[in-house]
Amino acid sequence: MAGEDCDVTILGGGLAGSLIALALARKRPDLSLLLIEAGDRIGGEHTWSFFESDIARHDRWLLAPLVCHSWVEHDVAFPRHRRTLPGAYHAIRSSRLAEVVHATLPPEAIRLGAKVHTAGPTTVLMQDGSHISAGGVIDARGVAGLDHLNLGWQKFVGQELLLEKPHGLERPLIMDATIEQIDGYRFLYVLPFSADTLLIEDTYYSDRPHLAPGTITPRIQHYAAGRGWKVAEVLREEMGVLPIAMGGDFDAYWRSGGDGVGKAGMRAALFHPTTGYSLPDAVRIASRLVRETDLSGDALHALLYAEARKAWQDRRFYRMLSRMLFHAAHPPQRWKILDHFYRKDRSLIRRFYAGRSTLSDKIRLLSGKPPVPIGRAAGSVFGDRSK
Ligand SMILES: Cc1cc2nc3c(=O)[nH]c(=O)nc-3n(C[C@H](O)[C@H](O)[C@H](O)COP(=O)(O)OP(=O)(O)OC[C@H]3O[C@@H](n4cnc5c(N)ncnc54)[C@H](O)[C@@H]3O)c2cc1C
Repeated sequence: MAGEDCDVTILGGGLAGSLIALALARKRPDLSLLLIEAGDRIGGEHTWSFFESDIARHDRWLLAPLVCHSWVEHDVAFPRHRRTLPGAYHAIRSSRLAEVVHATLPPEAIRLGAKVHTAGPTTVLMQDGSHISAGGVIDARGVAGLDHLNLGWQKFVGQELLLEKPHGLERPLIMDATIEQIDGYRFLYVLPFSADTLLIEDTYYSDRPHLAPGTITPRIQHYAAGRGWKVAEVLREEMGVLPIAMGGDFDAYWRSGGDGVGKAGMRAALFHPTTGYSLPDAVRIASRLVRETDLSGDALHALLYAEARKAWQDRRFYRMLSRMLFHAAHPPQRWKILDHFYRKDRSLIRRFYAGRSTLSDKIRLLSGKPPVPIGRAAGSVFGDRSK
């Protein structure tokens, strides 16, 4: 570490950066780390959920201390069918992530309220004009140049509610599409945290990233009232606008986040193209990094670029499904595609969320009578010009 401030500097104390910091701190105590976050806390305001089957068995140790709630099955509901699916589902609160990061890393390894201006493979220029030098830099500062990707959006506003009486839900309702369809495919996502608290997220697969929380929160209250739930207090709010990838120029996106710098998380385009979720990739990459002996800036760039590029190439099928969702169906009819999907075999559904669909899954997903007009569906299948 001659002349360097630390062995590895991680930019962005969100999901991906924090998981890398935790993994390296636990498995590579020989390394000195620096985790730099612009905000006043680690993790922001998020609830991150995942299916246990999204995470390789040998990587689950990393998430075990972070999980706040777990359920053994979950429901989906559509106008013409409802289903309970087996399989463990877990939720992580960003407050727990922050606690675990502070308990695991020494205080001098975490800098909050520290904004990065620019980053190179081994150097960081901070907004305040100071410099940091490191054996290697990993940039996990969230999304980069999204204009290089062809995108739809999954956007939502969530409220954690304390109810006057128990809600009676035993398991998560991860998609309730029995509601009025507005602004594309709309569903409610409901996580029961305790007998009288729930997180309700009003979610839209929309053509536009614009989010209007002031319009959406009354809809959450309306939904709660319709379920007979009287709200005693709104405990917390969170919101998100996640990119859903239909195509794009991966290399241009990668460069837009900093040429020659190793990247992780959304900044590396490491997210599921159809769900916008990035937690499984973030875990896999963190776990991959602890096995590397060379964590120099150039080696990190080579490794992380290769991982992200391969994921982008392997996910062509999911980008095609995203195009079907956004282009094959008229917005008010998008729910039919999800309804059709959720009638499939449960192991196929599980592999889809994990991003591990087999060839036979892909054939089965495209076979049968499409739920939307066949001409538009076929146009979506063959429209990928992404690089
Ligand atoms: C509310 C919400 C809920 C979500 N739920 C799920 C879910 O259930 N499951 C799932 O898999 N995905 C979920 N996602 C999608 C995705 O996984 C998350 O967005 C995830 O947090 C992305 O991880 P990341 O580390 O790439 O980015 P982030 O978690 O956004 O972290 C980036 C960090 O970099 C910091 N930063 C930015 N600029 C600078 C700078 N100049 N200097 C220093 N720091 C900087 C930011 O403050 C932030 O903390 C959710 C997204 C949101 C918004």
